Amino acid sequence: MEEFATLRERMVEEQIIARGVKDKKVIEVMKKVPRHLFVPEEYREYSYDDEPLPIGEGQTISQPYIVAYMTEVLELKEDDKVLEIGTGSGYQTAILAEIVKEVYTVEIIESLSKKAQKVLKELGYKNIHFKIGDGTYGWKEYSPYNAILVTAAPSKIPESLQNQLDDGGRMIIPVGSFFQELVLVVRQKNKFKKKKLIPVRFVPLVSTH
Ligand code: SAH
Repeated sequence: MEEFATLRERMVEEQIIARGVKDKKVIEVMKKVPRHLFVPEEYREYSYDDEPLPIGEGQTISQPYIVAYMTEVLELKEDDKVLEIGTGSGYQTAILAEIVKEVYTVEIIESLSKKAQKVLKELGYKNIHFKIGDGTYGWKEYSPYNAILVTAAPSKIPESLQNQLDDGGRMIIPVGSFFQELVLVVRQKNKFKKKKLIPVRFVPLVSTH
């Protein structure tokens, strides 16, 4: 739809490029992926606004800028295999699937995963692998990953998640309870370098263990 394409273009200019996102590929895919298809109908008109939106089950689709920012700091390459924790609406999943070779995504709420699977299949993505379950401990079967992106916040970084990073791999994760920060973890052999980036507000990472 013409109108949504115009809103999307403006979203990228005003919210993403204006705030300093530079990665050409990230900018290109943010202009391409139809975010409104991942937003429930009643909020569709707000799809390209500068805010997170409810997606049901008390969960939210992240603010566009945060999606672009988290994707950029991972410095993704075409051949990468990426793990995402918190499929939610599937929007961030689509952004990743546009950039890298394979995306593995874990969601704890079945109804959300099912909805995301439907939208992503209709859009034709064939490089996304879905799992319903607790992503706190990653998805060991397909590890190691070149990058891990976590879209729900634990109070501290789960060790088993960072251990599924490949040597040289990067993970972006919100950490904290009320006050949260995005933390970038870079693995070098068996060392994990951590860098605090920006303050954020994500839903909590639910743990079943
Ligand atoms: N990337 C999503 C963000 C959704 S919000 C989007 O932009 O739409 C975070 C998601 O993490 C929610 O759907 C929530 O159900 C899920 N989540 C919370 N704890 C989880 C866990 N332990 N394992 C997997 N998913 C989890």
